[in-house]
Amino acid sequence: MSTVNLSEITKQFGNVTAVKGLDLVIKEGEFFTFLGPSGCGKTTTLRMIAGFYFPTKGKVKFNERDMTSVSPEKRNTGMVFQNYALFPHMTVFENVAFGLKVRKINKTEVKRRVEDVLKKVRLEQFIDRQVSQLSGGQQQRVALARALVIEPDILLLDEPLSNLDARLRDEMRTEILRLQREYGITTIYVTHDQVEALTMSDRIAVFNLGECQQVGTPTEIYNKPVNDFVAEFIGETNLLPVEREKQEGEVFTFSSKDLEQTVHVAHTELNIADYNDTDNLYMSIRPEAVEISETPIQAENVFSGTVTLVQFTGESVHTFVKINESVTIKTTALNRGPSTYFKEGTQVYAYLPENHIRV
Ligand code: ADP
Ligand code: MG
Repeated sequence: MSTVNLSEITKQFGNVTAVKGLDLVIKEGEFFTFLGPSGCGKTTTLRMIAGFYFPTKGKVKFNERDMTSVSPEKRNTGMVFQNYALFPHMTVFENVAFGLKVRKINKTEVKRRVEDVLKKVRLEQFIDRQVSQLSGGQQQRVALARALVIEPDILLLDEPLSNLDARLRDEMRTEILRLQREYGITTIYVTHDQVEALTMSDRIAVFNLGECQQVGTPTEIYNKPVNDFVAEFIGETNLLPVEREKQEGEVFTFSSKDLEQTVHVAHTELNIADYNDTDNLYMSIRPEAVEISETPIQAENVFSGTVTLVQFTGESVHTFVKINESVTIKTTALNRGPSTYFKEGTQVYAYLPENHIRV
C-alpha cells in the first residue's frame, strides 16, 4: 500500500496543456476518484501515476519515494482500462497469469495466485474459458483480476464500467468497492459519472480543463461546491448570478437581476474570503432544498410562480416553478403521495431556505 503524492504536475502535448500544475495527495487505502467531463485530463493524470506518461513538469511520489521518471513495470501499480485490453483468444487463466509470468514467478505459485484471485472476483468456474466467450461484466472481472493478481500497491481504474449496461454497472460498483475494501488497496478511479463518484469514493477530485477544482468527500463536494462549475457538474442545481448587497449579522443579502429580488444567505454558505471584494458571484440551491406550497410561506426568500412541468420518477417528483421570463426553479421532493403532486398551471410559492443557498 502506498500514498500517492502529486506536486505541481503538468503535462503538455505539443501546444495542448492536458494537466496544469496539479497538486494532490491520495492517502493509503483510500478510494479516490478523479471526476470531470471528457477531455479534462483525468486519463493523462492516471497515466502519469502508472508511468505510461512522464510529466512535463512536477513530481510523482509513492510514499516518500520519487517515482517521476521510474518506468511503469517498476511502480507496482495495477491498471484496468476502459476497453479492458484483454487478450480475447487466450483463456481467463492465461490472461490473469500474464503479468505473473512476465515477472518470472514459478508455475505452482502462478496457479495458486490466479485461482485465488478468480475466487475473489467470482470467476473460478470460468478459468479455462476463452475471454471472447465471456459477457461484458465477466470480462470486466477478468480485467480486475489481472490487475489485482500482481498484488499492486496502487490500483488504477480508468472508466472501468462505461461499457456496461445500467444494471450491470450498479452491480459492478458494489463489486469493485467490496474488492477494494477486502484488499485495503489505495485505489484511484477515473469517471465522468457523478453517481459513480458519489456512491463509491472516500474522496473526489473534480477536474475541469486540466485543473483540479475541488477535493473533498462526496458530501462536501455536493453540499459545499466551491464554484459554479462544481455546483452544476455534480447533481442538479439552480444557479443564478448575484451581486452583493449588504451584511446584517450572520445573514448576507445579495441581489439577483434575474429574480428581481433580494436573496438572504446564511454566512456558513458563503464561499468567498472577502465579502467586500468579489465579482462573478453565483448562488446555487439544490432542487431538494426548495420547498413549495400553494399557501403563502412566512419567510425571507419566498418567490411566487407557476408550475410549468411535473416529472414523476416513482421515488420522487420534480416540479418546475416559473418565477418570471428568465427564471424557472427546479424542485425535487420524495414521493409522499398526492400531497406532493402539483398540477401544471397551479400558482405556488417557492421557498429557498437561507442556509441552503450557497454563494
Ligand atoms: P479525459 O481522460 O479527462 O477525458 P484526457 O486526459 O484523455 O482527458 O485528455 C486531456 C487532453 O489532452 C485532451 O484535450 C486530449 O485531447 C489531450 N491528449 C490526451 N492524450 C494525448 C496525446 N497522447 N497526444 C495529444 N493530446 C492528448
Ligand atoms: Mg479518459
